Amino acid sequence: MDALLSVRNVSKTFQRNFKALDNINLEVQQGEFVALLGPSGCGKTTLLATLAGFLQPDAGEVHIEGRNVTRMPPHRRPLNTVFQSYALFPHMTVLDNVAYGPMRAGVRKPQARERARESLKMVSLDHLADRYPAQMSGGQRQRVALARAIVNQPRLLLLDEPLSALDLKLRKRMQLELKALQEKLEISFIFVTHDQEEAMAMADRIVVMNQGVIEQAGTSGDIYKMPRSRFVADFIGDANLLECDRDGSRLSLRCCGQPAGALDAASAGRDMLAMLRPEDIQLSRTPSGLDPMLHAAKVTGVVSIGSHTTVYLDLNGTAIEARRLGANDLGLNRGDDVYLHLPADRIHLIEA
Ligand code: ATP
Repeated sequence: MDALLSVRNVSKTFQRNFKALDNINLEVQQGEFVALLGPSGCGKTTLLATLAGFLQPDAGEVHIEGRNVTRMPPHRRPLNTVFQSYALFPHMTVLDNVAYGPMRAGVRKPQARERARESLKMVSLDHLADRYPAQMSGGQRQRVALARAIVNQPRLLLLDEPLSALDLKLRKRMQLELKALQEKLEISFIFVTHDQEEAMAMADRIVVMNQGVIEQAGTSGDIYKMPRSRFVADFIGDANLLECDRDGSRLSLRCCGQPAGALDAASAGRDMLAMLRPEDIQLSRTPSGLDPMLHAAKVTGVVSIGSHTTVYLDLNGTAIEARRLGANDLGLNRGDDVYLHLPADRIHLIEA
C-alpha cells in the first residue's frame, strides 16, 4: 500500500548556498502521528512549508496518496495547516470562524454551519459556538483553530508548534486532547515541536532533525534507548556519554575499565562512546562485596525536585549523572563516597 505522504530526496537552499533541507526522505502512513523534532533552525518549519506547498523544493518530490503534488498550490492539496498564531477572525462567532472554510469552498451557509457544528463537537466546543474569540481562553481558541482545520476533513494535518503559546499545564492537557482527537479522526498528523517531551507524549513516531537532515526516525522508545548519534542522545533526555578504550574489537569504559561491549563489523575500527541514561545507573552507600562491577565514586552535587533526585558524581575524574525516583532517600551530600553500578545491558554504543 502507498504511504499517505512520501517525501523523496527533498532539498531546499536559501540565499544561494544555505541548505535548510538536505535530501530529506520520509514516509507517513495513514492515521500516523509523526512529530518533527529538532532545535531552532534545523529546518522543521521549512519542511512543513514544503509539504503544505508554501515553499517549492529545489530538488525532490512530495507525493500525497500516490500523487505527485510538488507543483500543486497549497489550497488544492488534501491537507490543512495549523500555525502557532491561529489568527481567528475577531468579528465572527466561533461557529462562523469554523464555517468560513467550507463556505469559501462553495458549500452553502446552512450546510457549512452544520459541518462547523460537527467539527466543534469533535473538539468539545459546540456549547460555545455563539461566542466571539475574545470571549474564550487560550486553550479554547486553540481548539477552535483545530476545529477549523479539520472541518474540511483533510487526510493530513500539519501543525506548526500549535501549543507553544499556552502555559505548561494547559499545554499538557492539550497534548492529551490532541492525541485523543487524532486517534478518533484517523487523520495523519505531522506536528512540529522543539520540545522533546511534547514529541514523546504524543507521537507514534519521532523524526529528529538537525541542520537540515533527518538524524533518526523511530518510536520514542527506540530513539531514547538506541540513539544513533551523539546529537540524538543529547537532544532526547539526558545522557552520560563515556569514552571507551579499544582492545581489538572489545571495548571498555575508560573511566573504570568495565567492559562496554564489542564492535560489530559495521563499526570496526571506529571510536565509540558508551551511552548510559542517568536513571539506569544504580547507587549504593556500601559495596555489596560480591559484585565485581561496583565502582567507588564521589558525590559532587545533589539536586532533588520531589519527583526525582539527580546525583552528580566523579568517577576517577569523569563526571557522571545518576537519577533516582523520589526523594534523596540515600541522604547523599556533596563529598560523600558512594558506589556505582553501571548495568552492562543498559550500555548503548554510539559512534564518537
Ligand atoms: P524554529 O524552531 O526556530 O522555528 P525551524 O527548525 O523551524 O526553527 P526553519 O524555520 O525551517 O527552522 O529554518 C531553517 C533554517 O533556514 C534557519 O537557519 C533559517 O534561518 C533559514 N531560513 C528559513 N527561511 C528562510 C528564508 N526565507 N530565507 C533565508 N533563510 C531562511
